[in-house]
Amino acid sequence: MRGEEIFAKARDRVTLSRDEACWLMREAPLERLAAVADEVRRAVVDDQKVVTWQIDRNVNITNVCISGCKFCNFHCKPHQTERAFITTIDEYRQKIERMLELGGDQLLLQGGLHPKLEIEFYEELFSTLKSLYPQVRLHALGAPEVAHIAKISGLSARVALERLVAAGLDSLPGAGAEILDEGVRKAISPAKPSVKEWVDVMHEAHLMNLPTSATMMYGHVESIEQRVDHLLTIRDLQARCPEGNWGFIAFIPWIFRSSGTRLEQEGVVSQFSPLEYVRIIAVSRLILNNIRNIQASWLTVGKATAQLALHSGANDMGSIMIEENVVSSAGAHNQFDAEGIQKAIRDAGFEPRLRDQLYRPREYVAAVK
Ligand code: SF4
Repeated sequence: MRGEEIFAKARDRVTLSRDEACWLMREAPLERLAAVADEVRRAVVDDQKVVTWQIDRNVNITNVCISGCKFCNFHCKPHQTERAFITTIDEYRQKIERMLELGGDQLLLQGGLHPKLEIEFYEELFSTLKSLYPQVRLHALGAPEVAHIAKISGLSARVALERLVAAGLDSLPGAGAEILDEGVRKAISPAKPSVKEWVDVMHEAHLMNLPTSATMMYGHVESIEQRVDHLLTIRDLQARCPEGNWGFIAFIPWIFRSSGTRLEQEGVVSQFSPLEYVRIIAVSRLILNNIRNIQASWLTVGKATAQLALHSGANDMGSIMIEENVVSSAGAHNQFDAEGIQKAIRDAGFEPRLRDQLYRPREYVAAVK
């Protein structure tokens, strides 16, 4: 009976308590949970038949990083000069030209926490890219990178964000959240900017009306309660966003991949369960009653599970993500091209609709091969 009361509240998009959220995450019957989350998705989206997708290109600014995340095979230390790189403008040009041929409209720019690249480097990079390709959106950095750049440049997060936006930053990805719990963070990302810094940077972005997204990487050392608290932190942060500002446009959970990571060496091995992922998507839809878009991360969970997620609360399939290096270096090798992602959406029973970062529809033009 209590379960049905919780489902009724969730269906009405009432804000759920921590206890109720924990019940959903731990005990709720999955079939019923997914059905209620699907009902809520239908109530929230403009067109129930539509699932959105995106074309963008991931480019890594640098792989030099002092954070030492134990789940990351991508980074190298500053002294590992044989592996270290900083992407050059010529390389950006080639990658952007190819992205434009494939119909993309956005760069997802991410990198490590480089100890020497201060804010002037990013201002120069963003303004150069914008002057060369004014039509390309820069979805760039992430809260930990902004906190790091601000710190080594002697700036507040607010001033750093203002300068980055003035140089061309269009929106802030939700990367680097993992699980928003200081204990978990110390265990898996010992030198990364803190949970509080992540929250503070995102809040500043919301006050400035800079569009953002939020993420969760689960399935490593966290407890069920810590997953729930992560979602509640995101929900509370969104509730503090001034009315009418973008805030978090989307929430994207994904599974930790352990292959070859330091966490794996320490005995933390990822055990992917499609049903657990469906539960996370459905619970996210019900707890995050103030975030409109829930994204199925096909890149980390694969086509079939992502399709299931579309019937369990997710309304977006994410990007075909031309060139991804971080999760693929830890064992996620799923791939889609534009035709493939649209077919996957159709096969799941929906109509695909290409969108931009702000979830505005775009016209799809088949790419030059
Ligand atoms: S995940 Fe990002 S912040 Fe962490 S080590 Fe890798 S590059 Fe650095």
